[in-house]
Amino acid sequence: NSLIDTLESTIRTIPDYPKPGIAFRDITTLLGDARAFRRAVDELVQPWAGSKIDKVAGIEARGFILGGAVAHQLSAGFVPIRKKGKLPYDTVRIAYSLEYGLDEMEIHKDAIRPQEKVILVDDLIATGGSADAAIRLMQQIGADVIAAVFVIDLPDLGGAAKLEKLGVPVRTLVSFA
Ligand code: IMP
Repeated sequence: NSLIDTLESTIRTIPDYPKPGIAFRDITTLLGDARAFRRAVDELVQPWAGSKIDKVAGIEARGFILGGAVAHQLSAGFVPIRKKGKLPYDTVRIAYSLEYGLDEMEIHKDAIRPQEKVILVDDLIATGGSADAAIRLMQQIGADVIAAVFVIDLPDLGGAAKLEKLGVPVRTLVSFA
């Protein structure tokens, strides 16, 4: 399969980062490869080509890069979901647990209007904690989150299954077990 080959061969794995025993999947090498970047974005949006999507939301920071490209491709607006304290206007905030602790993320309270159709984008889903929090945050302001898309799935950590249980369909392009 040449899509999988292209993606797998351009994602770099860094052993023992950010700490011993963790194999970090680095997509900067995929983003830097013109063909791989285009193919990844095309594949992420493929089920929604021609549908009316109002907004694409990206999770800081790698979700901004992919999310901007996905939004452009779908002729949708882009909405950043950021770590606390970074957004300048009134926000809604949610706390969530990370692999390595607790954190909070925010969205501008007027970034998505009630009933708008939104697709969430990030580079990778592991436990699903970040995406789950982002979805609940958007639902709090009335968004209709129709899907969550990621280049990389770490299926052993159960994130995709967790989001499916919330009723949000998940699309991923490549898995690392
Ligand atoms: P989760 O919340 O456990 O699903 O972790 C996913 C979040 O952590 C995403 O925002 C990812 O960008 C980041 N993350 C976790 N592991 C990796 C990795 O191996 N490479 C790149 N990002 C990662």
